[in-house]
Amino acid sequence: MIDLSLDNASRAQLTMLKWLGEKYLRPLGIEADRLERPIPPDHEFFLKVLEMGLGGRGLNDEEDNGKKSRDPDKPSSGARRGVIFAEEASYWDRGSAVALPGPGLGGAPIHHMGTPEQKERFLGPFRQKDRPRWGAFGMTEAGAGSDVAGIRTTAVKDGDHYVLNGSKTFISNSQRAEWVVVFATVDPSKGRDAHRAFVVEKGTPGFSITRVEKKIGLRAYETCSFTLDNCRIPVANLLGGEAFYEGRAGFKGAMKSFDSTRPIVAVMSVGIARAAWEHARDFIRQNYVTDRPVPRYQRILERLALMRMKIDHARLLCWRAAWLADHKKPNTLEASIAKAYAPPVALEATRLGLEIMADAGITGDAYLDKLYRDVKVLDIVEGTQQIQRIVIARRIVDYPGVSGEPADKE
Ligand SMILES: Cc1cc2nc3c(=O)[nH]c(=O)nc-3n(C[C@H](O)[C@H](O)[C@H](O)COP(=O)(O)OP(=O)(O)OC[C@H]3O[C@@H](n4cnc5c(N)ncnc54)[C@H](O)[C@@H]3O)c2cc1C
Repeated sequence: MIDLSLDNASRAQLTMLKWLGEKYLRPLGIEADRLERPIPPDHEFFLKVLEMGLGGRGLNDEEDNGKKSRDPDKPSSGARRGVIFAEEASYWDRGSAVALPGPGLGGAPIHHMGTPEQKERFLGPFRQKDRPRWGAFGMTEAGAGSDVAGIRTTAVKDGDHYVLNGSKTFISNSQRAEWVVVFATVDPSKGRDAHRAFVVEKGTPGFSITRVEKKIGLRAYETCSFTLDNCRIPVANLLGGEAFYEGRAGFKGAMKSFDSTRPIVAVMSVGIARAAWEHARDFIRQNYVTDRPVPRYQRILERLALMRMKIDHARLLCWRAAWLADHKKPNTLEASIAKAYAPPVALEATRLGLEIMADAGITGDAYLDKLYRDVKVLDIVEGTQQIQRIVIARRIVDYPGVSGEPADKE
């Protein structure tokens, strides 16, 4: 049976997160949207988050709760806690939630592919609370977004280093990151088999941010393009080490990361949908005379009820994918179903809110307008709807080469 109950420590963290959301995440998200700029990395809010124990190694990390000696073969609770926290944080503001300090999406490949030494070296510093730290995940290139196999950033071995050349685009938090996990190819003619993941550390000569994107939504964190110009990366920063890449482990490692991050990104849409739905419900309570037998009102209430059913459905799909991940069961299909389903539900919820508010929604409600723009961006990141449907279809028919389906990431 799927168990989503939280232990005492997690319940206490959730209570803190609600407080943080109301006091900081939402107001800061709204401000970033209005000013059209991310929350600056030296904002006092980030230190506060660390003091409260809500940043650092990442909210879905088992070690946050002091369970370091967990048997790796036993089910964990990290993915389930991850979806519960991610929904709550995104309910308050998804942009601010992604701006929170921590390894971010870069944490997943290090967990899945890194050696114990690399895990400690790159994730260990996130335990320190002296200053906020961020990590980032660098896969997307111009021309290689959904089609991950088409990346063109090259890695050429030179003694005890690899030399990286290329450019990446739309990489979240990469300007403030301590390191970026960069995917590159050691032989572009060999497709996915030649993919390698490197940890490129801040200050590496040749690494330069070339552009901070201007986004329609999720403005509280920065999304950047960068170039790698003869970046010399120690062999010790090749995730998993050379032996790891025999077979198709490099590409599989990236795909495995998505299996654990997709339910989290999907459930963020559920958080936004909940915020939009509540906004619409409160508007109805305040402005509609719902107990009068006017057919229009009944129809609106019915739409509100249907929307609530879809939001609950989306949440359960995310929980199912997370439960499978915690039980070390394959969840690629379920993670893609959740990611294909939840963002359109959130788009519908924001649209419904705007329709219910009618002229008030169009002219005066900046909040629903912001949610609509936020969730439109979320529909693209971590694999678009179209790509999720391809993954789902291939899994359903057990299409040959299924382990290498097009996939992508935030
Ligand atoms: C705010 C934001 C943050 C991001 N953060 C990161 C990050 O941290 N790290 C990172 O690596 N990337 C990140 N990305 C990039 C993101 O993963 C890509 O934008 C996404 O994968 C889509 O790629 P693309 O934009 O190149 O679109 P394309 O791949 O060019 O797709 C364009 C359209 O074609 C459709 N399409 C593509 N292929 C097919 C197909 N085979 N069949 C049917 N339809 C198809 C797509 O669904 C889409 O609608 C971020 C993007 C955004 C917007």
